[in-house]
Amino acid sequence: MSKLRIAIIGAGPSGLSQLFAFKQAEQEERIELVCFERQSDWGGLWIYTSQIGIDAHGEPVHSSMYRHLWSNAPKELIEYPDYTFYHHFGCFLPSFLPRALIYDYLTGRAKANNLRRYIRFNTAVRHVDFDDDKNEFNVEVENLNTGSTEYLSFDRVIVAVGHHHVPNMINIDGVDQFPGRVLHSHEFRGADEFVGLNLLIIGGSISAEDIASECYKFGAQLVIISSREEPIGYKWPAEIKTAPILVRMEGRKAHFKDGSSVDNIDAIIFCTGYRHFYPFMAKRFRLHCGVAEIIPPSLYKTIFWIDQPYLAYLGAAKYLYPFSLFELQTALVRDVFLGNVKLPEKDQWQADLNEWKKREKAMVPFDILVWADLELDYMRDMLALLHTHDGNQPLSNFDFDKAQKLLKKYSENKLVDILGFRDISYESTAGMENTKLVQVCKPWLENMDDTIESFLINYREKL
Ligand SMILES: Cc1cc2nc3c(=O)[nH]c(=O)nc-3n(C[C@H](O)[C@H](O)[C@H](O)COP(=O)(O)OP(=O)(O)OC[C@H]3O[C@@H](n4cnc5c(N)ncnc54)[C@H](O)[C@@H]3O)c2cc1C
Repeated sequence: MSKLRIAIIGAGPSGLSQLFAFKQAEQEERIELVCFERQSDWGGLWIYTSQIGIDAHGEPVHSSMYRHLWSNAPKELIEYPDYTFYHHFGCFLPSFLPRALIYDYLTGRAKANNLRRYIRFNTAVRHVDFDDDKNEFNVEVENLNTGSTEYLSFDRVIVAVGHHHVPNMINIDGVDQFPGRVLHSHEFRGADEFVGLNLLIIGGSISAEDIASECYKFGAQLVIISSREEPIGYKWPAEIKTAPILVRMEGRKAHFKDGSSVDNIDAIIFCTGYRHFYPFMAKRFRLHCGVAEIIPPSLYKTIFWIDQPYLAYLGAAKYLYPFSLFELQTALVRDVFLGNVKLPEKDQWQADLNEWKKREKAMVPFDILVWADLELDYMRDMLALLHTHDGNQPLSNFDFDKAQKLLKKYSENKLVDILGFRDISYESTAGMENTKLVQVCKPWLENMDDTIESFLINYREKL
């Protein structure tokens, strides 16, 4: 019997979860697995680079993360059920970790499972289409080191390229004439360059909060967060102020919708989100998803392309629990593609999608707990499909109620202290052994050296 040829596009957290899921199935004799990654290493967005714009191969720089970024949600919400943070680092850690530790953890599991052998690095997927006569996908890939192109055939394709790397820029009057620096959060690499300056941040979501806090931490003089939405009510220090949406810039003076203005702005940072972008997919398979949309159209269970079930997208929905969600999605993709789970008849797919879209539309915008409810129900839904066989035992350890309570507590703690929420730790949501609530050794606001070595030394010494 010929092997099932499976292509995964992207070796970020979702692509790595997918490789892990297939590896777990121990069916290497049945499948031929290739993961194409255009960067020179794995880890997707979690790779830090000081570069912005275009890289040495002429490819857009993928990462949107900055040097001193810390995770914005407790690690307990993204812990792998088979590979704990304790197991990886050998010590108990607080809930919020610097980027470098998350990167080390997620790639640590990939290393421990020998996943590198499936990945072709420096290889960009240029085009994917389906040949209806041959019943297979045609995939065009380019080796970025040699410039050579290959045309390959696959039975299944899994798109795992993420959707936090193509900036959603907006036009505002006068910004083009503004004499200072203008950038999108995708290009923000650190707050050091903004020390002593007056910043205007446009946007009302996590990136805006996080970059504002980061710039304050590193010594910006004034940060104004201008947003369409009503302020959430965080207790910002005097150096961070909120304002209604910016309507125009006049030189260095910012004019807001309520008629107020602030002069002497030095830099503008657009934290206006990211666009889904899949230029390599043939038009008929290209996902179009709005910046604020939670449930993407065209996909059954936000994964399977409704008119081509051999095509799957990972992480296409807007999410709060990325790694846990990826674990469920990738187990489902594996089981469906290997024939271990039978999905309902296709005529039910659109009806199911319509139900989720209806629920999304009824949601109060920006209510994180309602959004979390939707996501957890969606995860429960996937788990129920997976329960039809028992190879997915670790996944069922995820405690949905506990996760929801944790998210609620974490949101409340953020409201109480937006600059100190990272100093609070939470219990595991996956029934993990070896967990313990750990107090931070130094508050986030004072911790300027967040390298792996400096961070771990504080906790390893306590063993
Ligand atoms: C600033 C920022 C902070 C964040 N903080 C957190 C956090 O604290 N906690 C959290 O859980 N999540 C956070 N996230 C969310 C983050 O999106 C996910 O954690 C995760 O990285 C998504 O994984 P992914 O594999 O789907 O996509 P990505 O991480 O984006 O990986 C996609 C991979 O696909 C590759 N690729 C793209 N196009 C091609 C192509 N044509 N051919 C071959 N390869 C291709 C890319 O090079 C990349 O390696 C943050 C996101 C941002 C932007």
